[in-house]
Amino acid sequence: MRSIAIKELLAKQPLGDTVEVNGWVKTFRSNRFIALNDGSTIQNIQCVVDFEKFDESILKKITTGAALKIKGQLVESQGKGQSVEIQTEDIFVHGTADPDTYPIQPKKHSLEFLREKAHLRVRTNTFSAIMRVRSVLSFAVHSYFQQNGFYYMHPPIITGSDAEGAGEMFRVTTLDSKNPPMNEDGEVDFGEDFFGKEANLTVSGQLEAETYAMGLGKVYTFGPTFRAENSNTSRHLAEFWMIEPEMAFYDLDANMDLAEDFIKFTIRYVLDHCQEDLVFLEKRLLDEEKSKPQHERSEMTLIEKLKFVVDNNFKRVTYTEAIDILRNSKPNKKKKFQFLINEWGADLQSEHERFLVEKHFKCPVILFDYPADIKAFYMRLNEDGKTVRAMDVLFPGIGEIAGGSQREERLEVLQQKIKALDIEEEELWWYLDLRRFGTAVHSGFGLGFERLVQFATGMGNIRDVIPYPRTPQNAEF
Ligand code: ATP
Ligand code: MN
Repeated sequence: MRSIAIKELLAKQPLGDTVEVNGWVKTFRSNRFIALNDGSTIQNIQCVVDFEKFDESILKKITTGAALKIKGQLVESQGKGQSVEIQTEDIFVHGTADPDTYPIQPKKHSLEFLREKAHLRVRTNTFSAIMRVRSVLSFAVHSYFQQNGFYYMHPPIITGSDAEGAGEMFRVTTLDSKNPPMNEDGEVDFGEDFFGKEANLTVSGQLEAETYAMGLGKVYTFGPTFRAENSNTSRHLAEFWMIEPEMAFYDLDANMDLAEDFIKFTIRYVLDHCQEDLVFLEKRLLDEEKSKPQHERSEMTLIEKLKFVVDNNFKRVTYTEAIDILRNSKPNKKKKFQFLINEWGADLQSEHERFLVEKHFKCPVILFDYPADIKAFYMRLNEDGKTVRAMDVLFPGIGEIAGGSQREERLEVLQQKIKALDIEEEELWWYLDLRRFGTAVHSGFGLGFERLVQFATGMGNIRDVIPYPRTPQNAEF
């Protein structure tokens, strides 16, 4: 007999049939009711056990966390809380879970506790729901781009180009750390290293994606990126997944349109495909917020927030307008911001981004035309000579969810910029070639996948939306 996934069983409800399911025990009440879950859905199947029919030695093994195979007839449930249940005829114990040592008991565990048990936390309702949403969301990402004429491109994970943001990178080396080869200047000789030069894990596939957009037209990447920034925040990981679309012949306006349309599509997709998990996560969030002071609670529930994003236009505002708003804002005047906004040119911190989104506009915001000095070298210079065609998409509860720009397509302008920043032109010879051969207006952005998952699930800490978070001082598992 073939086993059936609980999700499928509950969808079909073949009343009267003898069925077989596998799963882990959530609870075993009154020596009679097993709530079994197999991860296919947040719903459990109730298996009713007639304890007179089974040996005490078997019943003893049915504890929370044990893996079982159960066979029996599917019948309408007598109790409330479920429409169907299995009248258990056969129990096979795949593996027991000693209640004295199994850490995931049927009670509320803190998210911090569960982070230390990351190998078992997916057996909780919260984490199985998050990880199902994460999976559906990744599929939505691919669906969107594949439906809209983009090609999936795999940028290198090991990169030899250090112009992207040196200092924040993880080095990749096979040199003997105890006894590395040295050059005449007394420095480590990376010429002897595996690649014959310094190599690092990528912080972004953008530059390589640009080269592919200038041949395939529209491409996107979706892969792991690595940043050795020492920021212990609820929005930063040392290893995270980034989505980077890059489009030839797109200007900044088209880029903003795409970012908005893409994000809305993925959220709508989750609303359409993850109803049960979202209902659960919404309730979890409401419970969590009960312990917060009134003014910190959100005005909308999780599902309302998701619908709001799908149904409303993102507000597009220039950096200059944003600075005016911030300079005259209450928290700035009352010196409540940690970083006060005094003048044009200031870099925006997450407290400012969140003020604009959560307090001022009360909707997602796309800020654009930032000062050139606070943005990357490859962004296209505006006619004013001081701002660049950059954009950041800001989300409630998250801050920056995506950042992008129209790229500088003019060779001389880019060369000047590189020179001013003291970057070696040779480092970027291939990137400059794009401006030498068939250059064109092009644009793209990078969106942190975990921040999108955070938004979709309402989770406050990015460590809880990736299976095994990598953060400073932490690479267990
Ligand atoms: P932030 O200002 O939030 O640190 P950033 O401006 O350094 O982000 P970008 O280089 O613009 O980030 O990267 C593009 C996107 O990748 C960001 O908008 C964000 O969603 C995501 N991202 C950046 N750094 C991290 C990180 N350390 N962990 C998770 N996601 C990240
Ligand atoms: Mn950014």
